[in-house]
Amino acid sequence: MFNEARKLINTNAHIYIERLAEAVAIRSVSTDLSCRDDCFAMADLLHRWIEELGGSSDKVLVGFQELDDGSRYDLPPVILAEFSAGKPRQKPTVLVYGHYDVQPAAEADGWSTDPFTLSEVDGKLYGRGSTDDKGPILAWLWAIEIHRELELELPVNVKFCLEGMEESNSECLDDLLERESKGGFLSNVDYVVITDNYWVTTDKPCLTYGLRGLATFHCEVKAGTQTLHSGVYGGCIAEPMTDVIQLLAAVSEYGHGDIGIENCGRKSATPITEAETELYKGITFDAEAFRHEAGDVPALLGENEKEVLMNRWRYPSLSIHGIEGGYSGEGFKTVIPGAATGKFSIRLVPGQDGKAVEESVKAVLEKRFAELKSANKMTVTSTSSKAWLADPRCPLYQSGAAALLKVYGVKPDLTREGGSIPVAGLLQEKLGVETMLLPLGQSDDGAHSENEKMSKRNYLQGVQVLFTFLGEIARAHEERGDMPNGTPKRKGTLGRLKDIWYGLS
Ligand SMILES: [Zn+2]
Repeated sequence: MFNEARKLINTNAHIYIERLAEAVAIRSVSTDLSCRDDCFAMADLLHRWIEELGGSSDKVLVGFQELDDGSRYDLPPVILAEFSAGKPRQKPTVLVYGHYDVQPAAEADGWSTDPFTLSEVDGKLYGRGSTDDKGPILAWLWAIEIHRELELELPVNVKFCLEGMEESNSECLDDLLERESKGGFLSNVDYVVITDNYWVTTDKPCLTYGLRGLATFHCEVKAGTQTLHSGVYGGCIAEPMTDVIQLLAAVSEYGHGDIGIENCGRKSATPITEAETELYKGITFDAEAFRHEAGDVPALLGENEKEVLMNRWRYPSLSIHGIEGGYSGEGFKTVIPGAATGKFSIRLVPGQDGKAVEESVKAVLEKRFAELKSANKMTVTSTSSKAWLADPRCPLYQSGAAALLKVYGVKPDLTREGGSIPVAGLLQEKLGVETMLLPLGQSDDGAHSENEKMSKRNYLQGVQVLFTFLGEIARAHEERGDMPNGTPKRKGTLGRLKDIWYGLS
């Protein structure tokens, strides 16, 4: 059926692109309240398409935002949808997570085309949401449609959780997942697949098994209620900006690389194993290109490609994002700000506990602040979300790898990412099942930036990858039977899978 599906995808290509254009044209910008109706329109469109394809779909309201003037805005609904596999045999259930909201975009930001009109240029489909994440979620729907058109039963049950607030911190999703995982819509899910990230390169597919978490810190030091003249007050008061600079220096005392705070540095990361080192061997990654993409920075931290990737994926990092307060405009102004705030964050990795990181950082700030003997008031606020790590040797990844191998003719890289997608850890934790990131787009798709695109090839091949994956996971699930942790039931299975495991055992 692989070839039949390919033929059909080619025949349907223009329809898939037209439908993506229809989705891109809807300005479902979740951070912009003036676009809230568009978010609902986007949910309606998906709901309609799902029902037309024979699925059942619910638009679940999860809460509202209330503004200072008392006006209320419902949050965009979460779509919980389901396509049932053929009966009578018991089939596993795959949950697909994606989001239909997008980042803001305006032609004035530097787009070469109208961001809300899908424009095909040199085989690339430009438009806001084309790759993040409308293109990928539509590819899932067309993979299901192909089964219908070829009169094939779905090999597994497919459930969807499509949210409309991903670009706004997934507001209220946590509560919904908690509720639905306890005897609700999500209670009988066997596998989770998230299609909301990108390849590490432009030409080789990958599967992503880890993400860093994030701890954020706002450290405010306040003296009085107003800005002062340094000629009048300089030397007479403890200056908030001086305090903040000293505090930021304390948290970053190691300079570049490691972090010198208890529970935060490299020592607190899970030690690297031989099996993990093996995973890095086959990865296609060009550090020089990476350096170039960063605006030709003079050098990267890391002796070689593997070290650069490890610094990016599996070790913590501290970044100081900015300081609020004082005068940073043109010219010179001899002011003493009444208050100053330092903003920084730490990317968290497996082995690190977010709460412990928050506590340790606060302890360093408090100790340094006490040393400064400042009469000012320091307030520290922080948040944290955990890192996520899956075992790429499990059947879910083998199925993903098998599908990518069939479609692209190469074994995908097994990769991690330095960024954070909190829902991955959330779903894995709440549902307790294997979770995989299966990206369809390329490294240069420009999600969140100007000229976001998805290559036509990736969109169409993506449909084929997902079509193939559903068959692969059905087979892997059957082979695994009731055995725990992916122990194959049938003889000979391990040989086939081992090949995809890159020699891991
Ligand atoms: Zn996204």
